[in-house]
Amino acid sequence: MASDMEVQLTAPNGKTWTQPLGLFINNKFVKSSTREKITSINPSTEEEICSVYAASTQDVDTAVKAARKAFRDPSWKRLSGTDRAVMMHRLADLVGQNAELLATIEALDNGKPYTVALSENVPEFQNVLRYYAGYADKNFGQVIDVGPSKMAYTVKEPLGVCGQIIPWNFPLDMAAWKLGPALCCGNTVVLKLAEQTPLSMLYVAKLIREAGFPPGVINIINGHGREAGAALAKHENVDKIAFTGSTATGREVMKLAAGTLKNITLETGGKSPLLVFEDADLELAATWAHIGIMSNQGQVCTSTSRILVHEAVYDEFVRLFNRAVESISVVGDPFDPNTFQGPQVTRAQYERVLDYIKSGREEGATLAMGGVPIGGPAVAANGETSKGFFVAPTVFTNVKPAMKIYREEIFGPCVAVVVFKTEEEAVAMANDTTYGLGAALFTRNMVRAHRVAREIEAGMVWINSSNDSDFRVPFGGVKQSGIGRELGEAGLAAYSNIKSIHVNMEAS
Ligand code: ADP
Repeated sequence: MASDMEVQLTAPNGKTWTQPLGLFINNKFVKSSTREKITSINPSTEEEICSVYAASTQDVDTAVKAARKAFRDPSWKRLSGTDRAVMMHRLADLVGQNAELLATIEALDNGKPYTVALSENVPEFQNVLRYYAGYADKNFGQVIDVGPSKMAYTVKEPLGVCGQIIPWNFPLDMAAWKLGPALCCGNTVVLKLAEQTPLSMLYVAKLIREAGFPPGVINIINGHGREAGAALAKHENVDKIAFTGSTATGREVMKLAAGTLKNITLETGGKSPLLVFEDADLELAATWAHIGIMSNQGQVCTSTSRILVHEAVYDEFVRLFNRAVESISVVGDPFDPNTFQGPQVTRAQYERVLDYIKSGREEGATLAMGGVPIGGPAVAANGETSKGFFVAPTVFTNVKPAMKIYREEIFGPCVAVVVFKTEEEAVAMANDTTYGLGAALFTRNMVRAHRVAREIEAGMVWINSSNDSDFRVPFGGVKQSGIGRELGEAGLAAYSNIKSIHVNMEAS
């Protein structure tokens, strides 16, 4: 292998590995046709890690052709679900064997704490693959009684070539959510990674080959969204597009996919509310409200980024919440085991979060905590030399529903706290958004809990917690937060067609 196809890397924790840099097509790492590369930056230090090849429109076409050929090839097409499951389990095993390395790559490339990547993201990849491996030989059709002279039955068939476009906030998890059900149902895949965080999944590509998947079944490409992503979304030989990312890009993807009427699933943005009623366990609410917005550097589509609190408990809740943020949100080096919050993923995200903080101040919200960069270019501009895209956990109180920080998705460690007077008002405020991903509510009154859960326009509701996600439970949004569901049994619906077969029993 030519030396510019891989590079030897060492992380701050001493782990050393050979990082593939190519496009993974037909089980081989290849250069892009244009030789263009994208540089991955370590968000903690702002230093270059390495540069990986970026797919051009032509490379996307090559990957799609490989996936189409693999889809029709008996080595995949004739495989039973049971045999597909064996490969999926093997991949899950290999990922487990490389857990520490993959967590290291994730901490370096994405900036998330190593301990989180190791204890949450790597196991999630394995769990999702194993869960859908379990379904691979249990996803069958029906026989339908249509009277004695005819017979009818259905079979579930794969869709074909699936284009899958993932974001940078959970590179391993998002890949697994897409690959698991697609492979389970017998599809082939072109997975486009986010250009900001390609390294962990390029390493997994090596393991895919080792797990025994035939060439072309799983193709993994890095590339710019507007070129490689768009080429995949509009490609005439792609049957399905599954996308996770911002609502604005989701809208673009939907338009591009319309040209050939592709099957689509979209998981897009959110501005999820967290409601604290007057009878809530306030300590519990504060603990979960912290997790709900500050986990993963606030870069979670389901973040409960609007906290709505009843006027009777507002001051006490804010006190407990601020205390939770102060004591738990230790910001620092992702490789330090004490770190809860690493840097924002890129300079662009760092600046975007700081801009929102500025707008919150200008619009007159009370800055109760944080609000400042604690590393990176903005600090350097103030005469200091600190590096990294770190932002202090930020809490705005006395927020008004018209403010930008209340209406728009910030995607950072920044939360807006507002007050409400009645349950009716709380529900109306929760639903006053174009988004509908998640919602959390805190109350000791279980009748109210279930009533409000039904009233809120969201794909997921958490009662007395926030941001639970489980591979066995459907995940997705309503309104402009998405179309379709991932995870759980519901996730299978997005990856197979039902074919109905009618048989004339009177034919001789
Ligand atoms: P961000 O969270 O950075 O705003 P996006 O929603 O734009 O991210 O990106 C999510 C994924 O969509 C990434 O893999 C990105 O490359 C891809 N993408 C961006 N623009 C397009 C586009 N026009 N068509 C298809 N994919 C895109």
